[in-house]
Formats: sequence, structure tokens, C-alpha cells
Amino acid sequence: MELKAQEKQEKSVTEPSVRVPARARHKRLSTGNAVALAEVWPQVIARIREAKWRLLLLDFDGTLVAIRRRPQEVHLSQQGKKILRWLVRLENFSIAIISGRELRTIKRLVGIKGLQYIGLHGAEQEGKTAAVSEAARCALESARKKAQEELKRLRGIEIENKGLSFAVHYRRASLQNAELAGEAARKIVASATDKLRILPGKMVWEVLPRQFPGKGSAALALFNALAGSKIAIYFGDDETDEEAFAVLPGQVTVNVGTGRNTRAAFYVRNHSEVMGFLRRLEKELR
Ligand SMILES: [Mg+2]
Repeated sequence: MELKAQEKQEKSVTEPSVRVPARARHKRLSTGNAVALAEVWPQVIARIREAKWRLLLLDFDGTLVAIRRRPQEVHLSQQGKKILRWLVRLENFSIAIISGRELRTIKRLVGIKGLQYIGLHGAEQEGKTAAVSEAARCALESARKKAQEELKRLRGIEIENKGLSFAVHYRRASLQNAELAGEAARKIVASATDKLRILPGKMVWEVLPRQFPGKGSAALALFNALAGSKIAIYFGDDETDEEAFAVLPGQVTVNVGTGRNTRAAFYVRNHSEVMGFLRRLEKELR
């Protein structure tokens, strides 16, 4: 939605008397329907202005960029980079990109200095990687080999080895092949559920060690490191982002999608709307 249209819409909406609508607060505890961010933007921006420290947490695929048929074809637009560069220059404002991709890949794809980068759903950070037991490494290796063997004949299925996890992409597969691959991946992981877990993403299943902390722990650690008056703003479209929404009650958690069955308080519809709000955020805090 264009910003002007959003502003018009906001004017026509009766402002809630509380800072965060009660409906939104309640929904963070369990999944439910989030409130359109555009509807409550004046209240949200007021809270962001009041806080001394602002932490912006961003997922990458599906949040800052559209999902493409091939994950390697994705790139962040020049306009997107410009907005992030503006934002990171603001006083008392920090940005972290939290992605399921490997740390080195996400750093290359975004490529902006001054941002924090977190890969593999929270497990990989600059200078530190989550500990993984030898048994879990072996289970992962064996699961990946099995998946490669069993899925190699399914057209459109792509297995990405991320070192400490692997992904089964089905962006280019037929519905039938995607279903077959999903079933096979779940079966493979089922034989080692004490060590591995499978996460559904957008056109992808991720297989990772159970020991991995997840986006929730990573987001909470960054938030807890800030002292005093602070606010977190988190945009994400994935199942793993839901873990982060759940541990950030009272914060500006934003589901990128339909806003249904989410733990986020708010929603926007797509990555273009994310960019629109980030641009607006920068303008209003400048
Ligand atoms: Mg995503």
C-alpha cells in the first residue's frame, strides 16, 4: 500500500485509547490475528520516539526481499540498502538482520557496515557459533546424505548444505514433488528427533540441530543487552520468526503476511510494505 493511502486510512480509523490494542497484547501469548500496522502507526511511532534505545530486527527472505524461484537469485534493492544505511545512522538505533541463511551469505547479500548479522536462525554470529555435539553433527550429516539420495530424482527439489544445517527447497517443484519431498524429509528427521528438528519456511524445510538456540533466543539476547528505556521492532514472515515474536511481548512485533495465526502484534502484507514502513520510520526519527 502506498504511504499516502496508508495515511488516509489512518485518519479514518478511530484511535485506540491504549498504546497497544488489547487484542494485540493478548494475541502475543498464543497465535491469533494481528492488527494492521498502518491502523495503529501513530501510537507505534509515539512509543518508538519515547524510547531511548531502538532495536530493529529484520528477517531477510520474504521480509526485505521477495521470495524467488532460486534462493541464489535474491538481492536487496539499492533503495532497500539506502533505507537501511539511513536508519543505522540514527542516534541510539541499532539494526540486526536475523536470517536462516549462513552468516557469510547474509552478510554478502545485505552488505552494509554497522549492522549486526545473525545466520542459521540465531546459531551463527560474528565470532561465535552455537555449540553442536558430535552426535548431532553425525545425525545431521547422515540425514543430509539420506535426503540427497532419496530426493535426487524429484524434479525441482534442491538441497542446500549450510554446514550446521541443511535446507530442502521446493520453490521450483510441482505440488506433488513438494509433498513427496516434505514427507521424506519429515521421515528422515523422525528417526533422530532427539538431535534434529525440521522447520517449515517459505518454500523450504530446514533441518537443524535441536541444540540450536533459534531466532527467539538471539533476538532476546540483543534486546536484553540494552539498558533502560528501549523498544524492539521486529519484522519477519517465517515460522522461526514466531519464536521471536513470542519472547518479545509488548514490543512492536510485525508479521509479514496475512496477520493470521501469528504471535506478532501487528502485520504488514509484503516486503514492499516493510520497506514503506522503514522509510517512514527513518523520516519520522530523523
Ligand atoms: Mg523469511
